[in-house]
Parts: sequence; structure tokens; C-alpha cells
Amino acid sequence: MKSFIAANWKMNKTISETGEFLRDFIPLVKDVTDVDIVVAPPFTALSAAAGAIQGTNVRLAAQDIFWEEKGAYTGEVAPGMLLDAGCTHVIIGHSERRQYFHEDDAVVNRKVRAAKKAGLGVIFCVGESLGERESNRTFEVIRREVEKGLEGIDADGLVVAYEPIWAIGTGKTASPDQAQEVHAFIRDILGKLYAGTAEGIRILYGGSVTPDNVSSLMACKDVNGGLVGGASLKADSFAKLVCYKKEK
Ligand code: PEP
Repeated sequence: MKSFIAANWKMNKTISETGEFLRDFIPLVKDVTDVDIVVAPPFTALSAAAGAIQGTNVRLAAQDIFWEEKGAYTGEVAPGMLLDAGCTHVIIGHSERRQYFHEDDAVVNRKVRAAKKAGLGVIFCVGESLGERESNRTFEVIRREVEKGLEGIDADGLVVAYEPIWAIGTGKTASPDQAQEVHAFIRDILGKLYAGTAEGIRILYGGSVTPDNVSSLMACKDVNGGLVGGASLKADSFAKLVCYKKEK
């Protein structure tokens, strides 16, 4: 299966910083054919990024989406607008959206439906908090998020990201065993939702992935890529991640 490695820049980088990053990054990964490479800049830099990646092996994702096609929704961005800006993918259900913007499973599901209807690939995020892990609720939380978030959704263009909240931006990475355990569990749920096609769905790990730990995580059977925050902000660091096979 082709791996999938995505950069989630969150609320970082202006238009000119995005341009500088891509100018440095694109030549470093131009020969990579076995990884789908995606960058997710803030909304304001999407259009400029789309111009910079034209004709390259780098694809563009937005970090969020709204489910309506147009209308009186001040501040929101419609699926068609993301396509128009050059996006092929969108991140949905990131824990920061769930936590700070109160997105629940129903909201996440509406967003996934809208993105898929527009033809966007979806990077669908799930993950447990530290408290949930410590009280042995990891599997219950992951099951609920996957089943509710993907209700009525087909598997086409779907990528799932497992991001334990306690590992995001903390420098605490899940061990390969911890990651594999949850990835296998997600694969099992996907098997029930998508009999026959679940094996082909990429499941990414996210949470303090760095050039130093990427190989051990990618060596896990059900880890098919990464969603990377902090270590994706510098071109050389994100290029090392994308080229993890060479770095071994
Ligand atoms: C993220 O928020 O998607 C993420 C994985 O962040 P970091 O790599 O900084 O932990």
C-alpha cells in the first residue's frame, strides 16, 4: 500500500512563509513516488500553495470545512471553495477542532459527508485523551468516533488518522506497540463498515512524529502513514519524514 504523509500546519505560516517552505521542500521530495505527500496550510495560504505545487508530487489539504454549499454562514468555508482553491483533501475531526470548537461526532459526520459529496479526499481524525486512556476507555472512544463519524460514508478517498490527544504537540509519542494496537482495532472496525475494502484504507498515526521516530512507527503493520504537526513546519524536517525509507 502506498503510504500517505500529511503536514498539518495548524495556525502557522503566512502566504510568503508558505511559498518559502514549498520552494525549499519540493526539490527535496521530487523523486518520491511511494508516498502520497500532502500539505495543509491555513485557508489564507491555500491558493498560493496550489500555484506553487502545480505539476509536482505534492497535494493540498485544507484543515477544516463547512457542510453547506453557500449562504449566510459568516466565517465558514464551503467544500466547493476548497476545490476552487486547489485542495484535493481536507482534514476533518482534528482533536483541536473537537476540543476548542466543540465539534462532536454529528458535526464531524456532516463535514465528512459534505467533503465526500464534493469529491474531496478526507483525512478523518480520531483519538483518545490522556484521561480516557488512563481510565481504560481508549477503545470505547475510538469505536464511537469511528462509527459515528463515518456513519453513512463510503470508503472512497477516505484516510483515517489515529492521533492520541496526549501525544499531540507534547513530544510524547505513542510507542509502536501502542500505535499498532489501536490501528489494528480501527482496521477491525473498518472491516465491519467496509467489508472487502478496509484493507486498502490508509490509517495514519499522528502525535509528535519526528524524523527520529518515523521509521519505527511506519514499521508497524497497520500504520500506513503519518499526520505531522510540529515536525512539518520546517522543509528539511518534513522532507526527512517523507523520505523515511532512505533515512533508515
Ligand atoms: C497534529 O496535531 O496533527 C499533530 C500530529 O501534531 P504534532 O505532530 O505536533 O504532535
